[in-house]
Amino acid sequence: MNNEIIISCNWKMNPSTLEEAIELTQNIIQYSKHIPKNTKVLLIVPFPFIYCVSTLIKNTNILLGGQDCHSEFLGPYTSGVSVSMLKSLGCSHVLAGHSERRQLWKDTNEIINKKVRKILDNELYCILCIGENKTEYEKGQNKEICAKQLSECLYQCSENDLKHIIIAYEPVWAIGTGLNATTEIIEDVHNYIRNWFKEHYSETSSNNICIQYGGSVNPINVSSILNIENVNGVLVGSASLDSEKISKIMNYSI
Ligand code: PEP
Repeated sequence: MNNEIIISCNWKMNPSTLEEAIELTQNIIQYSKHIPKNTKVLLIVPFPFIYCVSTLIKNTNILLGGQDCHSEFLGPYTSGVSVSMLKSLGCSHVLAGHSERRQLWKDTNEIINKKVRKILDNELYCILCIGENKTEYEKGQNKEICAKQLSECLYQCSENDLKHIIIAYEPVWAIGTGLNATTEIIEDVHNYIRNWFKEHYSETSSNNICIQYGGSVNPINVSSILNIENVNGVLVGSASLDSEKISKIMNYSI
């Protein structure tokens, strides 16, 4: 069983200037010097800042990721960003299926699967976001939705591919709302996800897959979330933009 913890910082469409992005990165570099040994920090930053952040974090242990990618390799897709572009800038990870992409850009499981394939074909790590919305949660469908998203987004992914897949369970109703999923919900769904991999792949893959939790993670709730069985890291949105908060999150103690 892998006991590495990943703290992923999803800046979304923030901050508003390159200067602010530089300041935030420099603060994070400082704080990252004393984080627990088994912990990695991943900065998932807006496309225009990737090159600069990549230069700043060179010689540190901080990892870099893109927030999305195009489902094609290259070509006439104005505004598109390909995985090979992200890779050439120093990204090791790319998000796919974030709920904001699903809601605002209408990314379907089929499109997300194509993106997952492009990320894997370029030998980068894919953080696949899954999770139910509020209505689905209220109907008790959280596990059913996760299972559907897993099977459709990972369509034709082999056991070997899973070495490059990280799952982020993010209940949509908990993202950016300040609402937290309870310990019981997180534990229940994370156990379900781990078992899903055992059923559809193997015990080894199930043991090794990294499952992060995302949804209003903050300095107060981070250690109790990381203490839950089958939680291997957190995906942090708004709190990752506040130097003081992200410093406390990175230096969690469990
Ligand atoms: C996210 O962007 O994936 C996220 C979890 O955001 P927040 O931490 O703000 O809920």
